[in-house]
Amino acid sequence: MPELPEVETIARGLANAIVGKTVASVEIRLPKMAVAPPGVDFARELPGERVVGVGRRGKYVITRLSSGRSLVTSLRMTGRLVVQRPGEGEYKGTHVVFHYTDGTRLSFADLRTFGRTRLVEPDEPWDGSLGIEPLSSGFTPEGFIGMLSGRTTPIKVFLLDQQRIAGIGNIYACEALWDAGIKPGKPAKALSKPAVRRLHRAIVDVLQRAIGMRGTSVDDYVDAEGLRGGFQNVLAVYGKHGQPCPRCGTSIVRTVIAQRGTWWCRSCQR
Ligand SMILES: [Zn+2]
Repeated sequence: MPELPEVETIARGLANAIVGKTVASVEIRLPKMAVAPPGVDFARELPGERVVGVGRRGKYVITRLSSGRSLVTSLRMTGRLVVQRPGEGEYKGTHVVFHYTDGTRLSFADLRTFGRTRLVEPDEPWDGSLGIEPLSSGFTPEGFIGMLSGRTTPIKVFLLDQQRIAGIGNIYACEALWDAGIKPGKPAKALSKPAVRRLHRAIVDVLQRAIGMRGTSVDDYVDAEGLRGGFQNVLAVYGKHGQPCPRCGTSIVRTVIAQRGTWWCRSCQR
């Protein structure tokens, strides 16, 4: 599932590829994947809209349009947004196609069809339930200490809660906790202040490094140009069951916390 670094990479790729282009038509082959407000016809509203920017909020790709409206796209498990030049063949699993006036098209593909792209009105508060952006200046060590205070939730479950911090998923939660030397099942409130500061630093660091490597392709993630990321080559623990911990050599274990596979080192994560 694409997490913050993958979605950021996709958004940056799209910003380079489609900003300034005007929608000629939208082809919706699977209606549930293109959502509009009641009474609004998605395919009818889009032609003539110019793309003025592409960004990210949490795990969502935000495409800003000239009318002030936005397209908010959730890729969920297997969604992809891939830009295709005129003449390029059909992208596998494509369900929604944005055709631009210059012949370029943006294919929204999803083999499992959980992904959605939603037309959002200019004043529609769609992201009210999303938590803080971990790479924003507002996410501070002191603020993080306050967020965890009194919380009995296992720290890993807290990190995955999009209403607290937006964008962290299973890969980066496991990696950040390993980096900070913290046991994933530890109650959030039981972390010492130095441990919270280490975790804060680790979250920011792992996300930035992963963006620098264009994300992690452990599954079928590809960016807007259809290319795989590179962070899977430097993962410390995620998916590494039975392999030696890069820090202490102990075998990495896989346990389950809140129904999610969790990889960690019993020896150096306390
Ligand atoms: Zn270790």
